[in-house]
Amino acid sequence: MKNYLLPAACLLFFGCSDKQKSSSETITEVNNATPKTVMAVFAHPDDEIDVSPLLTRLASQGHKVYLTIATNGDMGIREHAKIPAGDSLAHVRARETECTCKTLGINPPIMLGLGDGKLTNWNALSVLRKRLDSIFAIYKPDIVITWGAEGGSGHPDHRMVGAVVTEIYQAGQSTGFGKLFYTAIPTEHWRDEPPYKSEPQTSYHRQYKPVEKKYLPVRIWCSKEENKIAREAMRCNVSQYPPEELDDNELWMNNMNRDTVYLRPYANAGYVSDAIFK
Ligand SMILES: [Zn+2]
Repeated sequence: MKNYLLPAACLLFFGCSDKQKSSSETITEVNNATPKTVMAVFAHPDDEIDVSPLLTRLASQGHKVYLTIATNGDMGIREHAKIPAGDSLAHVRARETECTCKTLGINPPIMLGLGDGKLTNWNALSVLRKRLDSIFAIYKPDIVITWGAEGGSGHPDHRMVGAVVTEIYQAGQSTGFGKLFYTAIPTEHWRDEPPYKSEPQTSYHRQYKPVEKKYLPVRIWCSKEENKIAREAMRCNVSQYPPEELDDNELWMNNMNRDTVYLRPYANAGYVSDAIFK
């Protein structure tokens, strides 16, 4: 992983050095770029928050951007919303995810409809594999972004989604996708806990599983406007967060990723060795 050709990845696709370029150079690069298909795959509606600035950035550059959500979020009950678990909550969360995608300027969400909190069993993993195989065969994404082993907050559904996406990618059997990236929050940023207003956000922060920055070599700077859009999109999730928690989410976004989305590429294909200590 550490040997991944970062500059090539940046220049070929993400344009991560835009910050240093003039606006005319950036526009030329975008207009000349072949549109790619990028798909973020996560477990629950609202899991995309940490990469949403990148999703809106890529969409504005003309790429086809999709958000695939494995579960229907039907167990995400919150007292302020007064929506019972089940179909009615799943319906609300699907609408909220549509709002998110519309605000980000990406394609409508692809909802796989599995049960919330129910991915850790043979049957669910088998269904998830089949549905993801179908989605990848239909959309043929050039890039997929998902959770790494830590699953962000460590939620079992997050870990399972990242694991099944990885399983598909590394087997090389499907019509598949080009490159796989994991998103994570740098440990170096996570240590600075901002002054949250709510206890749930403080707990979430403390249980989060960050990744050291040295393992996150692909770093995509996003503009002030892209970060603003991402924060607006986060506020679509009103069934999940009362107003003070929406504010806390914004604090999280401002302090954890700051103005950059951090990614870790899957392995270093081509690196072969006969020694583990070298
Ligand atoms: Zn989640």
